[in-house]
Amino acid sequence: MTTRFNFTLQATDGAARTGVIDTPRGAIRTPAFMPVGTAATVKAMLPESVAATGADILLGNTYHLMLRPTAERIARLGGLHRFMNWSKPILTDSGGFQVMSLAGLRKLTEEGVTFSSHVDGSKHHLTPERSMEIQRLLGSDIVMCFDECPALPATEAEVAASMRMSMRWAERSRDAFGDRPGHALFGIMQGGVTRDLREESAQALQAIGFDGYAVGGLAVGEGQEAMFGVLDYAPGFLPVDKPRYLMGVGKPDDIVGAVQRGIDMMDCVLPSRSGRTGQAWTPRGQVNIKNARHQDDPRPLDEDCTCPCCTGYSRAYLHHVFRAREMISGMLLTWHNLHYYQQLMAGLREAIAAGRLDDFVADFHARRAEGDIEPI
Ligand SMILES: [Zn+2]
Repeated sequence: MTTRFNFTLQATDGAARTGVIDTPRGAIRTPAFMPVGTAATVKAMLPESVAATGADILLGNTYHLMLRPTAERIARLGGLHRFMNWSKPILTDSGGFQVMSLAGLRKLTEEGVTFSSHVDGSKHHLTPERSMEIQRLLGSDIVMCFDECPALPATEAEVAASMRMSMRWAERSRDAFGDRPGHALFGIMQGGVTRDLREESAQALQAIGFDGYAVGGLAVGEGQEAMFGVLDYAPGFLPVDKPRYLMGVGKPDDIVGAVQRGIDMMDCVLPSRSGRTGQAWTPRGQVNIKNARHQDDPRPLDEDCTCPCCTGYSRAYLHHVFRAREMISGMLLTWHNLHYYQQLMAGLREAIAAGRLDDFVADFHARRAEGDIEPI
């Protein structure tokens, strides 16, 4: 087993790439989808079940964990991997984005951000240095730079000023991270939907030097067309030999489009969150299990799916337990959704390796266009 963090690019098809990230905690096959384990759990799933869906890595949220149960407590208890019983790699975000979206009474300066907790109102200070310390205490394998994502709508001047501060914070993050063999630090490109700013940001990050590069500031409400517009050029500003991570994406068709444009890693709460609200994702699109059309339907969500939900339970059962607010509802749908997402990633990886991504994508869209199976 490797003692270092290393990315090997194995094949490309157009702009799309497939490869493997080796870490001391295991290999991450790319393109990779990372389930989100916000509060040291992927909600409604046992860690071994998350692994069984095919996930090589999951994401933890610095903001939530620093507030509760605190990074210091997790460190005393042996680190996040042991605490949540997940031995494979973990990526943690920097906390910056969620401070902006969840915390109250924020005050942003060059030094960092002061905010009050959404849990108990207590006051906290987050800086690049403190974010690096928290992510080290958690034992994260892939650490993200502390950055600022400007709230939209924002003028180009505001986006530029914010991006340049994030680049200064990226340098402070790099200095504070230090030399930690086996652990990686990723820089985060900002610059909104402005090509020149994205290029400036990518160059600033590469001058500092990171183990991987994220495309930040997307999937924040700009829409798929604008996001793909940026992804048509932004990954090309990043080095070929380092992984590229698109933060917070997305729906299955967002993922396919991002992979086509050269993205290697993604994360999103969607498969787990929608599993808890009665939404399922299949190759034929989205299924709303709440709908009365399912109440007498003995068929599984997806006849071809090999997950425990589809091999053991009918649509009628899933409809019933959702209506009855039974916990197994969220458990089964989350498992199915995560399984579907990982199957999609496996299909993308195989298609890129075989040089037939265009056919795979055409089939992906054709099956979705068919829509769900006809009601009974
Ligand atoms: Zn299934």
